[in-house]
Amino acid sequence: MGACNPSLAATVDARVPVPSLDLPAATGLHSRVNDFSARSLHDFRFSELVEVLARDGVVLHHAKVLWRALHRDGVVDLSEPPFLPPLRRWVDASVGEGKRFFLEAPVVVDEIHSSDGLTRKFLLRMRDGQTIETVLMGYEGRHTVCVSTQAGCAMGCVFCATGQMGFVRHLRPGEIVAQVLHARRVLRAIDPTKRLRNMVLMGMGEPLHNYDSVLAALETISDVRGAGIGPSKIAISTVGVVPSILRLAEEQQPYRLAVSLHGSTEEERAALVPASKRWSLEMLINACRRYVELTGKRIFFEWTLIAGKNDSAETARRLVELLDGIDAHVNLIPLNPTGGFAGVESDSGLEFQRILIAGGFPCTFRQRRGIDVAAGCGMLKADKRVRVPLVQNE
Ligand code: SF4
Repeated sequence: MGACNPSLAATVDARVPVPSLDLPAATGLHSRVNDFSARSLHDFRFSELVEVLARDGVVLHHAKVLWRALHRDGVVDLSEPPFLPPLRRWVDASVGEGKRFFLEAPVVVDEIHSSDGLTRKFLLRMRDGQTIETVLMGYEGRHTVCVSTQAGCAMGCVFCATGQMGFVRHLRPGEIVAQVLHARRVLRAIDPTKRLRNMVLMGMGEPLHNYDSVLAALETISDVRGAGIGPSKIAISTVGVVPSILRLAEEQQPYRLAVSLHGSTEEERAALVPASKRWSLEMLINACRRYVELTGKRIFFEWTLIAGKNDSAETARRLVELLDGIDAHVNLIPLNPTGGFAGVESDSGLEFQRILIAGGFPCTFRQRRGIDVAAGCGMLKADKRVRVPLVQNE
């Protein structure tokens, strides 16, 4: 979950040592973790696709047609669309096995539905065999896709299934985009009148640890010529990568920011979120203040309620003091069951919520989704074995 979906966790078939929590070098379009010589068409922003085609003498009009096929229509087979000859020739010569470019087409290894039918979890296999998880969640009147940004995660939050599997690799922009396109195809197949309008980056991985790839993917996903999910409907969730929070603010990125806090003192937080040893609570709160100052935007603070750890009235009062002066909304998340943590009942945080509201902060409980398919917050770990109901949905 980029803080956040302590339940997605793909097969750990390519585990590598957990890297240090120092931010790695840019992982964007030109510095890939996967060093394939062929390039994914879905990795390109619109302007980059235009440039690629222009270099081969294919004009802007055809680049727009190809972009629409990829991102608005979500085609999985480029032999189907009736392209005009210049584009058809380029596609036939350049895209496919052994050619310069390929179509990002993850294989659906598994799909599990929650008992209430509102949540579908997909286990997707990427081109190199790595598996990741994506969740499509239905709420009244809207659907939200929860995407992964890394295979595994380096942040090691102790209550999180993904954190417990360690870091495997960053996802490329195309691998992030492909998750949204897949969820959209599924939704259309269920009901062609429904549109996918919301996206959260709360699947496997810490989005701000893979900044360049994530921001490139979001530019593509929010492009009105393609999937067209509005920037204000996209939430980036972070466990507190301070330099990247400041960068989002300086770049005036239009997306929503959700910060997973989970602790109101350095000790309380460090016990749950090891990354806070790198970026302390004080550094994080200062960065949040700066973010609000520069962007004028509200921050959503995520608070996973863990029985006996961070759910006391005293903690709630400290949280009110900590957030003083920040335009903040607090989302309470009763912990979904993961190894070693039992979570709390949905209503046990009511006193916690009352104190936050009395302190002047909007405070809501996040709706639980997909617990019986291990697709709830903190449960993602891309493991086909997680198929038995853990608890009944409320
Ligand atoms: S370890 Fe932490 S940051 Fe990483 S996915 Fe889990 S909750 Fe999110």
